[in-house]
Amino acid sequence: MKAIVIGGGLGGLAAAVALRKVGWDVDVLERAPEFGEVGAGIGMMPNALRALDELGLGAEVRRLGTPRVAGGIRAADGRWLAKLPAVGQEEIVAIHRADLHRTLLEALPAKCLHNNVKATLQDGVDADLVVAADGIRSGIRAQLFPHFPEPVYAGATAWRGVAPGPFEDLEIAQTLGPGGECGVLPLGDGRVCWYVSTVAPPNADLDPFELFEKWHDPIPRLMAATENILRHDIFELAAPLPTYVRGKVALLGDAAHAMTPYLGQGACMALEDAVVLASCVADDELPSALARYDQARRPRTQRIARAARQIGRFGLELRNPVAVGMRDFVFRALPSNIALRGMTRFSAWQAPRLHPIGSNPSVT
Ligand SMILES: Cc1cc2nc3c(=O)[nH]c(=O)nc-3n(C[C@H](O)[C@H](O)[C@H](O)COP(=O)(O)OP(=O)(O)OC[C@H]3O[C@@H](n4cnc5c(N)ncnc54)[C@H](O)[C@@H]3O)c2cc1C
Repeated sequence: MKAIVIGGGLGGLAAAVALRKVGWDVDVLERAPEFGEVGAGIGMMPNALRALDELGLGAEVRRLGTPRVAGGIRAADGRWLAKLPAVGQEEIVAIHRADLHRTLLEALPAKCLHNNVKATLQDGVDADLVVAADGIRSGIRAQLFPHFPEPVYAGATAWRGVAPGPFEDLEIAQTLGPGGECGVLPLGDGRVCWYVSTVAPPNADLDPFELFEKWHDPIPRLMAATENILRHDIFELAAPLPTYVRGKVALLGDAAHAMTPYLGQGACMALEDAVVLASCVADDELPSALARYDQARRPRTQRIARAARQIGRFGLELRNPVAVGMRDFVFRALPSNIALRGMTRFSAWQAPRLHPIGSNPSVT
């Protein structure tokens, strides 16, 4: 069986690794001249780590990233609003995107990987399956759903970077302030990935140093130490797709469910998609396998996209000082594991086992 994967981002590469694990022949088509990821960090939640374990890459990702650091949520002045200890928690791994991307890339033979190909559905005519992993501006989604609304601006913009460090003794933290939020993801080698984001009109001309100069240490320090700062206005697919499958095409990752980043689950969902898709096609004939993929992935990812939007309303979108004070009070009053439940409740997902076709002991 032959699959064409359109898009060589985290989702597309994960799909290729997963499909090869169940015995498929895969070609990945990437339009960029080289495979790569942006210079920023990413948090791998426990659910994504289980997906990576099933791809055989969990140990390497834990080695390259920083697992099991204590952390929690802080206010803009640095007070901890909710904090979880390092021990007894499910691990979250902070990792540089380029390291995660390279780990997936190295799990694929060079013959599968094709750059400089701006693919269309036509490239998949001879394949049994086409995986559309071509991101939030998916051309394949536009071809399949010509009347579906374009991604919309989510009302905020973000800056991201990796401070070279070394910075010692930092903990994973998300900081909620009035009208903005920040994240600090320390890597094991002393570098620190960070992001700051603020409510803003689209394309607003803003200076992040000015906006965040009074936020708690180490945020201004990390920003000042970073040479290459990236900016992204945040977009999402506001309307949920009616299906992730059309014929032999499966949408995956941001192409299917681009969401706001406030739950840190966007790429985690792409990794889950990849493992579930491979598990479905390994166990079943293609039409029913793809129907099962759609049923398994659409409700969960669309629920998480909704939750991410809602959590943004209590996070960076809150600007009124009284409302901010009340939110912070509630966070501090609750036991930390309950206060952080909004962030962690989607992490319990278990990955299906990937068996080569015909060898699944549960299918008779
Ligand atoms: C500020 C910010 C912070 C985030 N933080 C987190 C986080 O902490 N944790 C998390 O899990 N997620 C996070 N996310 C979300 C995460 O970045 C995305 O969900 C994830 O990168 C999507 O991966 P993807 O492979 O689906 O799409 P993409 O990464 O967009 O990859 C799509 C690929 O397809 C290629 N392509 C497009 N069209 C074609 C074509 N026609 N032919 C061939 N190739 C094509 C593109 O060049 C690209 O390489 C964040 C997002 C933002 C904006």
